[in-house]
Amino acid sequence: MSNYIVLVKQVPDVSQITDNAFDPETGTLVRARLASVINELDAQALAFANKMREDGGDNVGPSRLGSSTGDSASVTGLAETGRIIALSMGPPMAEEVLRFSLSRCADMVILLTDRALGGADTVATANPLAFAIRKIVKEILKNDNDYYVITGMQSVDGDTAQVPAQIAEELNLPCIAYVTDAEFRNNRPACPEYPTQEKVLPKDGTAGRFEFTRIISGGSQTVAAKKLPAVITMAKYEYPLFATFSRTRWANKSFDPAQDGTQVIRWSASDINATHIGVTGSKTSVIRVFPPGKSTRKCRQISDAESLAKILIESFKSGDDQAGQDGQVQAPRYILPNKRASLFDRNLEGTKKEQEDYKILAEKLKELGITKAGQIDSAAKEKILEAVGEHFHKKALEDMIKGFKLTKPAFEGEVWVVAEHSDGVVHPATFELIGRARELADSLETKVGVAVAGFNIEPMSEELIAAGADNIYVIEDKLLEVFDPTAHRKVIADAISAYWPQIVLYAATPQGRMLAPMVSYRVGCGLTADCTGLDIRDSSRKSDIGILLQTRPALGGNVMATIRTKNSKSQMATARPGVMKRIPPEPSRKGKIIRHRVKLSEEDVSLEIIKTELGTGDVNFNAEVIVSGGKGMQSRDNYERLMSMLCSTLNTKLDTQVERGASRAAVEQGFIERAHQVGQTGTSIGPKLYVALGISGAIQHMIGVANTDTIVAINSDPNAPIFKQCDYYIVGTVEDIIPQLVRVLE
Ligand SMILES: Cc1cc2nc3c(=O)[nH]c(=O)nc-3n(C[C@H](O)[C@H](O)[C@H](O)COP(=O)(O)OP(=O)(O)OC[C@H]3O[C@@H](n4cnc5c(N)ncnc54)[C@H](O)[C@@H]3O)c2cc1C
Repeated sequence: MSNYIVLVKQVPDVSQITDNAFDPETGTLVRARLASVINELDAQALAFANKMREDGGDNVGPSRLGSSTGDSASVTGLAETGRIIALSMGPPMAEEVLRFSLSRCADMVILLTDRALGGADTVATANPLAFAIRKIVKEILKNDNDYYVITGMQSVDGDTAQVPAQIAEELNLPCIAYVTDAEFRNNRPACPEYPTQEKVLPKDGTAGRFEFTRIISGGSQTVAAKKLPAVITMAKYEYPLFATFSRTRWANKSFDPAQDGTQVIRWSASDINATHIGVTGSKTSVIRVFPPGKSTRKCRQISDAESLAKILIESFKSGDDQAGQDGQVQAPRYILPNKRASLFDRNLEGTKKEQEDYKILAEKLKELGITKAGQIDSAAKEKILEAVGEHFHKKALEDMIKGFKLTKPAFEGEVWVVAEHSDGVVHPATFELIGRARELADSLETKVGVAVAGFNIEPMSEELIAAGADNIYVIEDKLLEVFDPTAHRKVIADAISAYWPQIVLYAATPQGRMLAPMVSYRVGCGLTADCTGLDIRDSSRKSDIGILLQTRPALGGNVMATIRTKNSKSQMATARPGVMKRIPPEPSRKGKIIRHRVKLSEEDVSLEIIKTELGTGDVNFNAEVIVSGGKGMQSRDNYERLMSMLCSTLNTKLDTQVERGASRAAVEQGFIERAHQVGQTGTSIGPKLYVALGISGAIQHMIGVANTDTIVAINSDPNAPIFKQCDYYIVGTVEDIIPQLVRVLE
């Protein structure tokens, strides 16, 4: 019987943001001013662990807690298996999420709390959590390896999805990410790798195991871990667990110092002996936090179907181009210091403050007639200090002057992209990354490399070179034919360690967001997730020239953060699909193919892929108008009826092909085939006109429509997030609005 270690995190409640939560001067969201709640996906992970415990026949012992009898007094001690242990790392107030866990289904909770753990990035979060898990396994599970680590795929404050994969890497466990369901199958032949599962089902001599359904690009997949323990990350589990009266009473008693609260354990940093903790153990640091740029979408509410009909026609005819502009400001291109007009030109510093300081210094140097760094001797330094002393101290001045003498980038090597592909087809996001990598590499005067792992993949090289790459690092093995996180991370990490590129970019697709944290952790480098901006800049004062600044949204998109890599040999980032621009392919470009060999065995493959469902069908997403339906279409019949009505009317009225699209939720409800799914794991589209019906506006959907000219939304919820990301919207039900709209259009 398995045990379940569930990771839970206390996060700011980003769903309840009031104006007071923003700093009036900087316009940035102040995290401390938000209420704290359990990360929603972690609450789902708890409910999921409970379901697994029940489905896997583990519902023994402590799961009786809070049973309908409400007899918590009958609970004495813990059973040896089937336990749910909630683990959280955070300040003492994070106890609240553990109380939440006890009052739902946890049998025991552990709080890892210590000031030394504060200020951690994902590496310095994953590392102590992994060490805490080791301690749980040794001291509480008595080295029983039949356990799952279950957690939300990401937390709403960080949104990185890196920590679970990095924990798996530290513990050398398989990781199944983006899980939406699990089924316990007991008709499998006995499997030596599941010895304890056999204990669950001894009657017929067969062993059982869990098979997990997870989200992948273009569809979904059913997989099983080839061995336990395993890390599972939840993308969605919609059956919440509620607190019962008896469990709540028991949870409160457990936290009462006067009672024997043996279910609550507190550990400090010295209890776990982790190797990377807090700020010093981190491999990235935030250098700037700022408010997100205003969306250039119009976000205009339309009151009636008649006005909406006019707008649909006008927007289509005028081709009002909003595409790809959302909050994106084009930063000036980077030039190495020795290629600038003067070495004193420091306009390409990473922060505004650094740029301003250098501007003041450069002006003073000009006044003093100093034109070369070599002229700055100690007498000159004194003079400069006298003149600019009010702006900075002696040490700062010395550091800045030292910066003038530096021209060589802080990192060396190529700029790499890790290619993603399926069935011989390169993912569009890979081409976008190559486009950005080309610009970065040209600025740094280096080459673009693409690492591609798989089987029979060498023919892809031509296309990758035409897209802007110089060197293609091909890693071929039959065992790499389908994506297995553990096998792929082994070979990519091996190639990186052999060539040490200075930058490695991955697409922020489900695959890239899984692979990148494992690889970066394995090679000891920092990683920034879901970047929307990648720029080379200097921090001359810190002797860092030509470093990669990685800008990304955080706190549910309410703030933007610029991050840099530290204590690493390479700078790594995942970038959001649809944000970077592909450069036009140049079939005559020449490049080199470098075959990199890595020894792999069956042992390196961690997952058994049982079933893959990918969208197939003839869908023309190049159509000028796309109408998509979401879960708000209510039923397949409704979807069919309302879609046919609107699409055929628009087709006649606008005299253009109108294609049908759908949100992932609509596809999962069976309203339409998967090939019609729009978004991060569907297709990214860029029509002239996009009409979203009953779609809430989740980031994974909106990523796929970023390049659309005009977005129109119909939704019954006046607070639907899509209204802040579209051009025109109308509040109302699709059942009411669409027939009206069709009538007016006709
Ligand atoms: C790794 C990962 C990848 C993903 N990839 C994608 C992807 O590629 N594409 C994608 O779409 N999603 C994707 N998702 C899922 C995404 O997070 C959302 O869950 C999904 O987009 C929600 O779809 P929806 O807007 O149709 O449903 P919901 O979020 O449930 O929204 C339904 C909306 O309909 C409105 N509504 C209800 N009734 C009516 C009515 N009668 N008339 C009008 N409006 C009504 C509601 O107000 C609500 O706003 C992904 C998630 C993960 C974790």
